[in-house]
Amino acid sequence: MRVKILGSAAGGGFPQWNCACTNCHRLRDGSLLGTSRTQTQLAWSAVPGQWSLLNASPDLRTQIESTSELWPRDGGRESPIRDVVLPSAELDQVLGLLLLREFHSFRVHATPSVRKVLTEDNSLFDVLARFSGQVNWQDIPLNQPFSVGGARFEALPLPGSFPGFVSASRQTELNPQDAVIGLLISPDSRANSSEDSSQRTLAFLPGVGCVSDTLLGTLQNCDILLFDGTFWSDDEPLRIPGITRTARQMGHLPLSGPGGSLELFATLRRPRKIFIHINNTNPILDEESTEYRMVREAGWEVAHDGMELTL
Ligand SMILES: [Zn+2]
Repeated sequence: MRVKILGSAAGGGFPQWNCACTNCHRLRDGSLLGTSRTQTQLAWSAVPGQWSLLNASPDLRTQIESTSELWPRDGGRESPIRDVVLPSAELDQVLGLLLLREFHSFRVHATPSVRKVLTEDNSLFDVLARFSGQVNWQDIPLNQPFSVGGARFEALPLPGSFPGFVSASRQTELNPQDAVIGLLISPDSRANSSEDSSQRTLAFLPGVGCVSDTLLGTLQNCDILLFDGTFWSDDEPLRIPGITRTARQMGHLPLSGPGGSLELFATLRRPRKIFIHINNTNPILDEESTEYRMVREAGWEVAHDGMELTL
């Protein structure tokens, strides 16, 4: 099973259109050793010729055009993209759905609350229901594994809230456990007709504010961990004009400091550890920085667009 990281940045991308922070400025003037990044997006293929998406990022059109495996073939209107899995209703994870509206049939997998928010409360998403069977919505169960595109998934409900555009009264009607999920992904042995007992698992957790002992235990046993790399320090977002919350208050565990992800996962030996969803203010984007060196010495990698993983 192939997994491609099409985008590795947090919301806004790197550089961000309205940002001239040290990183964005230096990337633009060519003095930063590092690469631009689009907003977080994964694609996987467990069946030859078929691809599925995890997230639907606002950069999806560019990401598809940058990935030849996702191009249409056979001289007509078609796409190898069959399924899209949504971990939340955040704009950075759903806006790309609107870019897939060109009369292509596909399935969208989301928790029931996320489906309701998008299809019942936001008429913009009616562009995905212009003909019968255009988009087939499938509910993600929180308490049992489910299969998508030749992969086996397990939802991990995370502490988190619905996006700010969901009204307080609407939120009372929704299941709070549906708001944000992490995902465990492994090749579906039935789809691959093998009895491979050494099944490999990837954990996708781009937005996690705190890690419970249960979650930590689950992550001990996975093979690839794609974890929240949004902010280096807890107070980093406070230096961004307009933001009044710390990283943890925004639902992102910082990398550094007491209880940060570098410390918390120091004992995690099995998984290959990769930071994803990296905000443009994070100093690890500068490969000559002390912070980048600390991350690498702690055994972590920093995801970049185009990175490919095998499960
Ligand atoms: Zn910036």
